[in-house]
Amino acid sequence: MADMWMRDDELISDILGWASERIQNDPDPNTGAIPSSALDAQIGNTITEAGIGGREAMRIFTDELLPATRAMDHPLNLAYIPSAPTPAAVAFDVAVSAASIFGGLWETGAGAIWAENQALRWLADLVDWGPTAGGVFVSGGTMANLSALSTARSRALEMRGGVRPSRWVIAATSEAHSSIEEAARVMDCEVLLVEANEHSAMTGEALGMALAKSDLAEGVFAVVASGGTTNTGTVDDLSGIVEVCEPLDIWVHVDCAYGGAALAAPSGRPKFKGIERVDSFSVDPHKWFFAPYDCAALLYQRPGDAAAAHSQHGPYLEAVNREGWNPSDYAIHLSRRARGLPFWFSLATHGTAAYSEAVEATLRLAKEVHVEINASEKLTLLVDPDLTVLVFRREGWAPEQYYEFSNLNARAGVVLMVPTQYRGETVMRMVFVNPRTEFSQIRIILDLLET
Ligand SMILES: *Cc1c(COP(=O)(O)O)cnc(C)c1O
Repeated sequence: MADMWMRDDELISDILGWASERIQNDPDPNTGAIPSSALDAQIGNTITEAGIGGREAMRIFTDELLPATRAMDHPLNLAYIPSAPTPAAVAFDVAVSAASIFGGLWETGAGAIWAENQALRWLADLVDWGPTAGGVFVSGGTMANLSALSTARSRALEMRGGVRPSRWVIAATSEAHSSIEEAARVMDCEVLLVEANEHSAMTGEALGMALAKSDLAEGVFAVVASGGTTNTGTVDDLSGIVEVCEPLDIWVHVDCAYGGAALAAPSGRPKFKGIERVDSFSVDPHKWFFAPYDCAALLYQRPGDAAAAHSQHGPYLEAVNREGWNPSDYAIHLSRRARGLPFWFSLATHGTAAYSEAVEATLRLAKEVHVEINASEKLTLLVDPDLTVLVFRREGWAPEQYYEFSNLNARAGVVLMVPTQYRGETVMRMVFVNPRTEFSQIRIILDLLET
């Protein structure tokens, strides 16, 4: 039997060598999913009694598996919300894996957690929160939203003296991310739909009206505002929302999974006015803050609320020293990778000014493309963009033509850009999070759309 802990230096160097090469180079845009049955036929069974050996497993990865994936960091991946991790962040992610750090408890992860907390502190500073604010890195925006909402409900239950309403209710607009509905399902809550305005935003006024006239209002314990909706990049009226919620003691969580990076950019930040008064917000460094998957930051103005909701106790945990900062206490998890470290490493390496400038550069690019679309007779912008999502119509196109354009150019490796629905209409959508995307490249794509 093979000794699995005996180091095969050549194999390790092959794997790290591959990673190093990949970090230097853009991914092949000409790859993508194929049916599972095709992979069965192509590769066959890989789990065998004797093992297939590292070289063969690595060959399968590079030659067969990767071509059936679509890397998110290509500068011309403009679909969904792509990703643009820095080489420093990606390389350091490998180091974090090698270090085997249990990042759940201070006792085991102190140094790593200290560094993660400095990165979280920078995020808290962006919203002018005081020294008692704090948070944790979780796997994604979905988990951040669920953890924040569960904290909010736990606090509401305490404030209501342990008396539950007939239904617990989360208020949000239909533009909120699908993970809010998912959180409501997991928590068995209702969603009170607040009507979004013509700009797809929630306003304080609309929220106030919804709370005044709905039977569900009594059970509302949290409002989820969007700090950049996924579909259109719209930032809600955070000040107005806070004005309504503060007197009612309703928790305000701002889902900034995509848009939060704009807080670091001088031109983006004013859009978030009011965020300094909310209870919690989340932002995904794996989206527009140049970190690899999977990394979402969840921040609380008063982290004690989260610890009360999420701290785990049990016989084998009683020995844990609870004195330090235990990230496990602030979200739904116990074991955790110190997944904030790649973000921290890149931020520490390059400095916050480079981050501000990189986010500003993508905002500038979106603005330039916006101007081009406005000048085009065949393209019509449908939402004045707050951030870097552009949603527009190609005049004269039926829905099939959007999908045809998208599929054709995806297959050809030209651009990944997928249509969306806006007010019942199939339209085109571009998202910019990669400072390496160039205006001249987008101009060519606009030409393609116009012909
Ligand atoms: C992407 C996104 C999420 C979900 O984040 P994951 O990291 O994919 O779980 C939630 N909210 C918004 C606004 C998003 O853009």
